[in-house]
Amino acid sequence: MGSRSSWWSLKQGFPERRVVARISRLFIANRGEIAVRIIKACRALGIEAVLAVSEADRESMAARMADRVVCIGPARAQESYLRISTIVCAAKGTGSQAIHPGYGFLAEHPDLPKICDEQGLLFVGPPEHCIREMGNKLLARKMVRSYGIPVIPGSEKVRNIREAEHRAREIGFPVILKAAAGGGGRGIKIVSEPSQLSTVFETAGAEARTAFGNEVLYLEKYIPHARHIEVQVLGDAQGNVIHLGERDCSLQRRYQKVIEEAPAPSLPDALRQQIRAAGVTIARNIGYRSAGTVEFIFDKETQKFYFLEMNTRVQVEHPVTEMVSGVDIVREQIRIAAGEPLSFSQSMVTLTGHAIECRVTAEAPERDFAPSPGKLREWVTPDGPGIRVDTHCYAGYFVPPYYDSLIAKVITHGKDRATAIDRMKYALEHFVIRGIDTVIPFLLFVLNRDEYRKGDVHTKWLEEVLEDYQKK
Ligand code: ADP
Ligand code: ADP
Ligand code: MG
Repeated sequence: MGSRSSWWSLKQGFPERRVVARISRLFIANRGEIAVRIIKACRALGIEAVLAVSEADRESMAARMADRVVCIGPARAQESYLRISTIVCAAKGTGSQAIHPGYGFLAEHPDLPKICDEQGLLFVGPPEHCIREMGNKLLARKMVRSYGIPVIPGSEKVRNIREAEHRAREIGFPVILKAAAGGGGRGIKIVSEPSQLSTVFETAGAEARTAFGNEVLYLEKYIPHARHIEVQVLGDAQGNVIHLGERDCSLQRRYQKVIEEAPAPSLPDALRQQIRAAGVTIARNIGYRSAGTVEFIFDKETQKFYFLEMNTRVQVEHPVTEMVSGVDIVREQIRIAAGEPLSFSQSMVTLTGHAIECRVTAEAPERDFAPSPGKLREWVTPDGPGIRVDTHCYAGYFVPPYYDSLIAKVITHGKDRATAIDRMKYALEHFVIRGIDTVIPFLLFVLNRDEYRKGDVHTKWLEEVLEDYQKK
């Protein structure tokens, strides 16, 4: 364990005054850009940041920025970032009052808030029961249906191939076979016709058991011309629940988001209001506290929306909402965990302009997105009006091969969508990265497509564009 004088030390830092009474020291159980993001929120609140690092992350930007760094184990996440007991011990040992899990890793592990509770630590996230309930997609669907919110037509748990075939025929092909405990775009399989079902079913259960420790599968109707629209919610310990508008995350590859924006373009106003209200209804009914996201599928053909799932954590794409709302979501999350009420009400939220986020990953789009770890020989982030870059990288940094390939999020904001797109093109064109491959050439190819500019896209559109890109 090392106490270090960081190059961005709190002692010379700006807030003299601690804003949150119950937290003077926060433990961050994460890495990468989100660790940096949380440290910045701590700074703004006058809180000391203690960072957990694996042996591979000792030289990270977050490690340089944190007030204190604790090595919690080897590079392998199973032996470091995923070890609840080590993390809780390190948090207590450093005198931290709270743990922020970021996203991924332990963020949606219900045992972490439970053990925090037992050990007298605050968890910067929702109550344990919310994570358990929403983490099981079948249970989440059942609860949400009972609140009168439309849910994608689908089945209960399917136990065997016969049951799957029977239920799929009732629902009607194409269907999606999903792992109840799935996440991160994994555990989702489209089945277009009856003959494919048995092969897909055979492998899916075993895969789900290995990936999520739970083999439960179920079926959903596959919505072919869909948009992914999600609502950012915030709830506090006083029972206030508000939304910060919606995001459109329809640009995906392998069910993972690549480009996101806020607000959702070309959505009839009545529908927009209904989706936002549905997000708040769900959060309120489950007794949600903290920042969370309610995801919906919007069927472009029928103009109907359906509940998809809820993510009980801060999301990768939260900055687009911060740009249009002016709300610091991570700061609110920490304040809420400390028992403070939301610092504003719904009527005080005004959404201005349009924001876009591109996820820049260390992957080679020319080589089927093969990971491209390595040393950043040059690294110059773009800036300018309406440009924000969330990153943990710097010139000379070695992008390790062990973790998520996200190296930066480029976020642009403008008075309207066209301005935000133009600024994004400018930003990506002026992002200098040498030493590794990134997806920037592909992102620019996408931004230059007419359909994108028109906002006329769906969740499979990006993969179609990728085929054109790979042919060129
Ligand atoms: P977001 O909507 O915030 O983009 P993602 O689904 O992309 O959420 O997940 C954010 C991060 O969390 C990614 O790094 C993803 O790999 C990880 N993640 C999400 N769900 C799981 C899960 N069930 N198991 C492991 N990792 C997950
Ligand atoms: P995860 O937990 O991995 O994020 P989701 O259930 O949120 O999984 O689905 C991820 C993505 O998969 C959605 O954003 C959407 O693009 C696609 N998808 C999921 N379910 C359906 C469905 N029933 N019809 C069409 N697309 C779907
Ligand atoms: Mg999802």
